Amino acid sequence: MDIFKLTIKDIRAGLSNGDFKCVDLVKAYLENIKLKNESINALVRISDTALDEAREIDRRIADNEDIGVLGGVPIAIKDNILLEGKEATGGSQILEGHMSVYDATVVERLKKAGAIIIGQANMDEFAMGSSTETSHFGPTKNPWNESRVPGGSSGGSAAVVSAGFAPCALGSDTGGSVRQPASLCGVVGLKPTYGRVSRYGLMSMASSLDQIGTFTKTVEDAVILMQVIEGKDSKDGTSVELNDTTVPELIDSSVEGLVVGVPDEYFVEGMDEEIKKSVMDAVSKLEESGAKIEKISMPHVKYALAAYYIIMPCEASSNMGRFDGLRYGYHSEGSGLRDTYRRTKGEGFGEEVQRRIMLGTHALSAGYYDAYYRKALKVRTLIKKDFDDAYKKVDVIITPTSPSVAWELNEKFDDPVTMYLSDIYTITANLATVPALSVPCRPVDGMPVGLQIMAKPFDEYSLYRVGKFYQSITEWHQQTPA
Ligand code: GLN
Repeated sequence: MDIFKLTIKDIRAGLSNGDFKCVDLVKAYLENIKLKNESINALVRISDTALDEAREIDRRIADNEDIGVLGGVPIAIKDNILLEGKEATGGSQILEGHMSVYDATVVERLKKAGAIIIGQANMDEFAMGSSTETSHFGPTKNPWNESRVPGGSSGGSAAVVSAGFAPCALGSDTGGSVRQPASLCGVVGLKPTYGRVSRYGLMSMASSLDQIGTFTKTVEDAVILMQVIEGKDSKDGTSVELNDTTVPELIDSSVEGLVVGVPDEYFVEGMDEEIKKSVMDAVSKLEESGAKIEKISMPHVKYALAAYYIIMPCEASSNMGRFDGLRYGYHSEGSGLRDTYRRTKGEGFGEEVQRRIMLGTHALSAGYYDAYYRKALKVRTLIKKDFDDAYKKVDVIITPTSPSVAWELNEKFDDPVTMYLSDIYTITANLATVPALSVPCRPVDGMPVGLQIMAKPFDEYSLYRVGKFYQSITEWHQQTPA
């Protein structure tokens, strides 16, 4: 049993064929966690019931009972997704000691499917960041090179899968927080179409952009996991009724005739030449396999970063308003209510969160609303139109996931603008609400690189098709950290 290579699919087969016991499987992951989590810092809390749950799965297998689609599969959950009876802190000091009183819908569905939640994953505070360095629990390290960042904000979830702490994890993606860390850690990251997955029980960052997404080793695993968590939920009015019938094993195994768009605007001058080569090599491979490559233009995506850094802080600043330290979490008593708020928020929130609260509050204030917020919304509409126009000609769009490989810890920490630039390729999918997938392509300097594939809203099938095909003709996703 090689836990660094095991996929969800392997685990299901291994358990049902009796190749290994679930309790031994979970023990192997827990031992690996014990050995390496102290330095990698991917998990902020480790389950103390996982072994009991594994024993129960073994008993059910022995008694010929159904164990569910994810029966016995260990998974890690980002620390901004609620788990009943467990602490959930969103990587923030302000939620210190906060216990969830209910399960997020995705967690409820995972439990029903038999998954074993092995731990809660580290993250940038309230998902604001691209490196997992803004976490109250200290940074997560990249398992490929521990002097580097894992990306963010779901860096803990990505590192979990890459370091062999679990075969899969959940994260959230508001501007790239699933895809970018997946890319930097050499795993598969899927951000579904806005509305595919319920956000009930996910701590809100920017509600019109947030989606829960998956981390796995293979695209096929991403499909298996997505099918468990997706679908309409009466507790989230933005979730959508689906009528997909995708069977992971039956996904078209060719890209013959598929039209792939490659937008000029994403391959700008000054981008890392080696990353460009790696991504263009992948595009050529698809072309050799029968896909048709179209150069396309998306003239408004150059404004995406600017629009995102208005819309996101506006929404985030109002979402952060609920953390007042009065009913739960961190509390710092001052002289009177105003002073108590000032102290609680000033001490409880980290610098990056405070920066965004101020940016958002400013952009929403009288006189600035029209100049900033409304204008950014108009730009968002134009970006969405760029995607609609592109999809009249192409089935999928391919770009790099991240403009660089993982950088050194602390390298960009004091330079927010440089940090923000690392989201340049991922935020457009959130603004346009389209689904996007990152799969490992050829590494650069021994560090993982991600290929980003985007499709029409609710056409995850095309992502699965291209991603699965690419993994069937390459071996990059099978490489693991030394
Ligand atoms: N890195 C981006 C940001 O800091 C995206 C974060 C996210 O997707 N949660 O806003």
